[in-house]
Amino acid sequence: MSLLSQTLARVKPSPTIAITGRARELAAEGRDIISLSAGEPDFDTPEHIREAGKAAIDAGHTRYTAVDGIPELKRAICDKFRRENGLDYTPAQITVGTGGKQILYNALMATLNPGDEVVIPAPYWVSYPDMVLLAGGTPVVVEAEMQNGYRISPEQLEAAITPKTKWLILNSPSNPTGAGYDEDAMRGLTDVLMRHPHVWVLTDDIYEHLVFDDFRFVTPAQVEPGLKDRTLTMNGVSKSYAMTGWRIGYGAGPVELIKAMGKLQSQSTSNPTSISQFAALAALEGPQDYVETSRAVFQRRRDLVVEGLNKCPGIVCPMPQGAFYVYPSIRDLIGKTSAGGTVITDDEAFATALLDETGVAVVFGAAFGLSPHFRISYATSDEVLTDACDRIRRFCEGLV
Ligand code: PLP
Repeated sequence: MSLLSQTLARVKPSPTIAITGRARELAAEGRDIISLSAGEPDFDTPEHIREAGKAAIDAGHTRYTAVDGIPELKRAICDKFRRENGLDYTPAQITVGTGGKQILYNALMATLNPGDEVVIPAPYWVSYPDMVLLAGGTPVVVEAEMQNGYRISPEQLEAAITPKTKWLILNSPSNPTGAGYDEDAMRGLTDVLMRHPHVWVLTDDIYEHLVFDDFRFVTPAQVEPGLKDRTLTMNGVSKSYAMTGWRIGYGAGPVELIKAMGKLQSQSTSNPTSISQFAALAALEGPQDYVETSRAVFQRRRDLVVEGLNKCPGIVCPMPQGAFYVYPSIRDLIGKTSAGGTVITDDEAFATALLDETGVAVVFGAAFGLSPHFRISYATSDEVLTDACDRIRRFCEGLV
């Protein structure tokens, strides 16, 4: 009898492991490596939030809490949704988990049956399809091309929906493209969903606060209140408050779904860390100036990277509306040979040669379901980004 489950066999190992492992090996050999693959803010958690975490320890908040979140935090989350998104939820409609990731996982595990389909626009965050597979569902990938702003159209959504569709997963602004759906674009999708009452919406709003220029963030239940009874609005403190390691995410939706997710959590992890819940409470209720400061820094870095990459022959880098990623195309580089003798057959070959020959680690597009592209995370200093763009430009100039 095989040790490992058949469910696990459905899941692919992360395609990013190879490149991350190679970057680590080269760094261990003493090579000067620039890693642009991390999906987290490079800032420290703001001081008042750190202090709230320390105070929680000293106040003895170090025991089990209610499985899906302390009441004070649930109330603060309701206030956040009212204040920032115009959405009214009661604490019974809120669940708190170990990162947004657990919220997504709970929702899919609690709702999918074999054969259920989940529509996922590509490029997607790497975990969506594999979580769907783990939960026994079938991912239905819809490609959002660069020329369409990396957004799927209402027609594409309409064509992807079948009687078996259970969820649409939306992520705006997106990891890996930074593309966002403004109110008009979102309404195009919500209009389609209103015609298909059996389809639920899982909206991953984790990059809500990282939006640039005049882009205004919207979430589906706000644009179309008629969808609220079949929407799970997911968010968290990881990206907005530089709290990736604290592991707090939350979801808001109909009580039946929220209860089912809590049941699952009660038999798996139980409550998210008590200390982190108090820190998250301080993040949501305390001063919000960090949110604007970091947003402005990320916007400046986005401009720097987009400009730097568009100077690289053969690379086309669109301007994202949010998050901290760019997702340039390398279509014009396919078939060329690098100075080190590697033929750029696809985006994985590009990323591998770029790392070997320049020391810059990026994630290739196939990992996110749309090629030939690569993803850069610009959550690092201007100096590092300038150096990385120079190295990428020299690499591209050396291709024949
Ligand atoms: N959703 C997206 C699109 C992400 O990029 C990430 C983290 O990289 C997450 C969810 C998970 O965030 P959390 O730290 O809240 O689990």
